[in-house]
Amino acid sequence: MQSPGALCSEDIPRSLAHHHAEPALMNVTSSTWQLRSPCPCCGQGGLTFSTCIRCHRVLLVCAEVGTVFDSRDRCPCGSEHFENATSDQITALGFTPDDYA
Ligand SMILES: [Zn+2]
Ligand SMILES: [Zn+2]
Repeated sequence: MQSPGALCSEDIPRSLAHHHAEPALMNVTSSTWQLRSPCPCCGQGGLTFSTCIRCHRVLLVCAEVGTVFDSRDRCPCGSEHFENATSDQITALGFTPDDYA
């Protein structure tokens, strides 16, 4: 989930970041996308876009507290298992690249 020491993803075109599988870019391809706005529960940055592995709904998860927003710690479908959302999924929700990083 976390990618400590990741390359600065802002320097890499988003369309490339998810289609390159070179080892040097591992941190980028596996990186999480986080909303730039502070988290409403703890005031920290780090709201991470995650996708429910069961129903593929995109949810925001607080990196500090683990809170899943809009649905009390789990997906409305009942699943508690998530994977990193892709930038395509995020923009499909109406977010622009200026909203997340
Ligand atoms: Zn929080
Ligand atoms: Zn779900």
